[in-house]
Amino acid sequence: MSAAAVYDVLVVGLGPGGGSAARAAAARGRRVLAVDRRKVVGQPVQCAEFLPNPMLRHGNLPGVLVQKITGMKTFLPSGKREDSDFPGLMIDRGNLDRAVADEAAAAGAELRLETRLLHLDPETGEARLKGPGGETTVSARVVIGADGPHSPVARAAGLPAQKTVHTRQHTLPLADTYPDTDIFLSPDFPGGYGWLFPKGEVANVGLGMDRRFGEDLGGPLTDLIGHLAERGLVENRLLGRTGGSIPVGGLRPMVHPGPILLVGDAAGLTHPITGAGIPAALISGERAGEAAADYLEDGDAEALADFEEDVRDQFETSVARGVERREELERIWGSPAADADGPHRRGWIAFSEYFGRAEAAPEAVPR
Ligand SMILES: Cc1cc2nc3c(=O)[nH]c(=O)nc-3n(C[C@H](O)[C@H](O)[C@H](O)COP(=O)(O)OP(=O)(O)OC[C@H]3O[C@@H](n4cnc5c(N)ncnc54)[C@H](O)[C@@H]3O)c2cc1C
Repeated sequence: MSAAAVYDVLVVGLGPGGGSAARAAAARGRRVLAVDRRKVVGQPVQCAEFLPNPMLRHGNLPGVLVQKITGMKTFLPSGKREDSDFPGLMIDRGNLDRAVADEAAAAGAELRLETRLLHLDPETGEARLKGPGGETTVSARVVIGADGPHSPVARAAGLPAQKTVHTRQHTLPLADTYPDTDIFLSPDFPGGYGWLFPKGEVANVGLGMDRRFGEDLGGPLTDLIGHLAERGLVENRLLGRTGGSIPVGGLRPMVHPGPILLVGDAAGLTHPITGAGIPAALISGERAGEAAADYLEDGDAEALADFEEDVRDQFETSVARGVERREELERIWGSPAADADGPHRRGWIAFSEYFGRAEAAPEAVPR
């Protein structure tokens, strides 16, 4: 039997997190293998395609930007509407993932598609892969898990499954171009929300829900689309459908023996209320690739700890607040309290209540 090919870094997953990690490590001269079980990077798209951080350089990559978003209209259970500034970009998510993967390849990373991680031994760094040519084993000095919400790499590192919300989305023709995103908060979407993201001549209309509070997404999505068609915003004609899981349990430890690093959805970096995770995947992926290269240079594990610290500095506060708000909302789903606007204002990022305390702290009484 021939010996396993040895890489400096194995990246599992070629979403925005994996592409960024592979590029960063390869750009520092490391021998990188990046694998994805998909046939084509970025396909199928499982995303509403909103890039909430318009300043990221990735919005300027070829074929990525479709339109700008300026505002958010949030609809409450009472029918009241709140309008907020909400700058961001609607993107072609498939093109984004492919552009980032192309950058990784241009930096020297070897990309293998239709190649699934079957097993990872965290002690030896040996990974069994199944590709078009059959099964192979490779070994890597650092493994980066960029393999999404159900991350097999995280499982190999000993982590339990993440808490997730399930989603369903239809793409429909827009009646007219639209500059805002519409958000629907309702007791009918327990543990999630409904959305309309306009993308040029079409709109991504979808919803997320927590399986524990509601199994059926089809009925509520049909109702939401019917309502939008009645308002004259969309044509009720299906152009495409997608869905997927969104991790909502908060950050997970990102550095594990091996060493194994986790990024993006695998690290629980997605915002537990909005479900936005593209920027966190891009940023954490890049940082992990750099940290892996630094670590390989002199074996100093400090570089890996610094990676996790940097990522936590950027995302921990907002993700932790999201987790807290989800827990508050979880107490009311299925009860009359979920029909009132108040808890939804407290549970959604467009409202000042989201950032405030649940109730005023009792005043200190002098003795
Ligand atoms: C319906 C929906 C709408 C969303 N809308 C938005 C939005 O508008 N804006 C936003 O910012 N975020 C959105 N998100 C979240 C966003 O898509 C994720 O946060 C983002 O994709 C995370 O990137 P990632 O690189 O960590 O993981 P992913 O993009 O999930 O990539 C993981 C990759 O790993 C591969 N993989 C998994 N297992 C294996 C294996 N065993 N072997 C090989 N490869 C494997 C997968 O094929 C996949 O390509 C949405 C999510 C969903 C489900």
